[in-house]
Amino acid sequence: MAENNILSTAMENFSRASLMLKDEVEANLLAKLSMPRERVEFTLTPQLSDGKVHVFTSFVVRHSDALGPAKGGIRMTADVTLDDVTGLAMEMTWKCALIGVPFGGGKSGIVSDAGNLTPKDKETLIRSFVRNGLRHIGPQVYVPAPDMGTNETDMGHIKDTISFSHGQAITQGCFVTGKPVLLGGIPGRREATGRGVAMCVEKSLELFDIDTQKATVVVQGFGNVGSVTAQLLNEMGVKVIGVGDIEGAVYNEFGLDISALSKHAAQTASVKGFASASAISGSELLELPCDVLVPAATAAQITTDNAEQIKAKIVAEGANGPTTPEADEILYKRNIFVIPDILCNAGGVFVSYLEYTQETQQEQMTVEHVNSRMKKRITQRFEEVLRLANDRKMSMRDAAMLLAVRTVCNALKSRGYQP
Ligand code: NAD
Repeated sequence: MAENNILSTAMENFSRASLMLKDEVEANLLAKLSMPRERVEFTLTPQLSDGKVHVFTSFVVRHSDALGPAKGGIRMTADVTLDDVTGLAMEMTWKCALIGVPFGGGKSGIVSDAGNLTPKDKETLIRSFVRNGLRHIGPQVYVPAPDMGTNETDMGHIKDTISFSHGQAITQGCFVTGKPVLLGGIPGRREATGRGVAMCVEKSLELFDIDTQKATVVVQGFGNVGSVTAQLLNEMGVKVIGVGDIEGAVYNEFGLDISALSKHAAQTASVKGFASASAISGSELLELPCDVLVPAATAAQITTDNAEQIKAKIVAEGANGPTTPEADEILYKRNIFVIPDILCNAGGVFVSYLEYTQETQQEQMTVEHVNSRMKKRITQRFEEVLRLANDRKMSMRDAAMLLAVRTVCNALKSRGYQP
C-alpha cells in the first residue's frame, strides 16, 4: 500500500499494538478488531439550486461498537474514499477507548468539495445524506460530528432533518454532536479539539522545561482545529511564527498576530496574502525551526520525504494520521516527541460525550464545567500514556495504542464471543 494511505497507517499502528499485546490478548479478538464491523456506501442524488439532479457518493463505517455506539465525524472533501473513512473509523475506536468515553469508532464521508458549494446547496446535500443514511445514524448506533469540510451549522441541519422525519421538535436522545448551542449543543464543543491540542502542547512544554513565553509554534491547517489551537497557544504567550492552509503559508519570526490573521482568513478564506508576514511554501512551513509543530490539516503530511528535515522538538498531532508509520520511526529515532492524534485531538470527542449526556438528560452545562472536565481528563490520560512510554521505553503512540487496544479487547471479552 502507498505510504500516504490513511487506512494503511491505521492498520500499521494497530499491527504494532497487536504485536505488543500478543501474549495477553487472544488472537481472535485482535483479528476481529482488524476488520470494520460495517462499511456502507450509498448514492445521494439531491436536486441543487441550478435545478439539476447531482450524483454524490457517501459512506458510513462503524469499526467497532464494543464500548458503545460508534462516534466519529463526517468528512466532506473531494477526495475522501471508503478506505479513508474505514481507517479514520478505526482510529476513532482507539481514541474513544483511550480518552475513556463509552463510544465505539465510526466515521462517514461525502465526496464533495465543501468549499465549492453554496451554503444552500451544502445544506441540501447534508440533508440528503441524512435522509438516505437515516438507518445508520442514531444514539445507539452511530453519532456523527463535524470533521474536515463540515461544521456546527451542518450539525444543526442534521438534527433538524432527523427530528422533522420523526415529526418532533427535538430528537429522543442525541443523534449528532457539535450542534449549535441553541439546538442542544454544548458550549465549548467548537473549540474543544483545538483546546485539547493546546492543553497537550502545554503539558509537553512543561515536560521539556520550555518556557511558554519563549516557545515558538508552527501550525499547519487554519480550519476549526488549527485556528483554535493557534489562538489559544497565542493567548498563553506562545509565539506562533508560521501558519499554513491548502492555499499557502505565512511566516513571521517575531510571531504572527493571530487575531488579525483570523480576520484576514475569514475575509479571504485563506491565510495566504496576510500582510504582516512573509509568504512561504507549505513544505517550508513544516520544516521551520520551532519548538512545536502542530499538523492540524490532513493525513500524511510528515512522510519519509520530510521527516529528516523536521526541526521541531515536539509534534502535536491535531489532524488525524498526519504522520506516516515510516516517518514516525524516523522522528522517534531523532528524539522528536510526538503526541499521537488519538490523545492530542481527543478533546473534541470527549466534549461530544458531554454533549451526548447533556442531551440525553435534557441538562445544560456551562463552558467552565466543560473545559475543566476536559482539562482533568486530557491531563490524566496524557500522564498515563507518558508513564507507560517511559516505563516501557516506547513512543507515546505505541503506549497510547497499547492502552487503547487493550481496553477495547477487554470490552469485547466482557461482551462474550457471540454472534
Ligand atoms: P477544516 O475543514 O475546518 O480545516 C482544514 C484546514 O486544513 C483548512 O485550513 C485547509 O485549508 C487545510 N488543509 C487541508 N488540506 C491541506 C493540505 N494538503 N495542506 C495544507 N493545509 C491543508 O477541518 P478541521 O475540522 O479543522 O480538521 C482538521 C484535522 O483535524 C482533520 O485531520 C480532522 O480529521 C482532525 N480532527 C478534527 C476534529 C474536529 O472536531 N473538527 C476532531 C478531531 C480531529
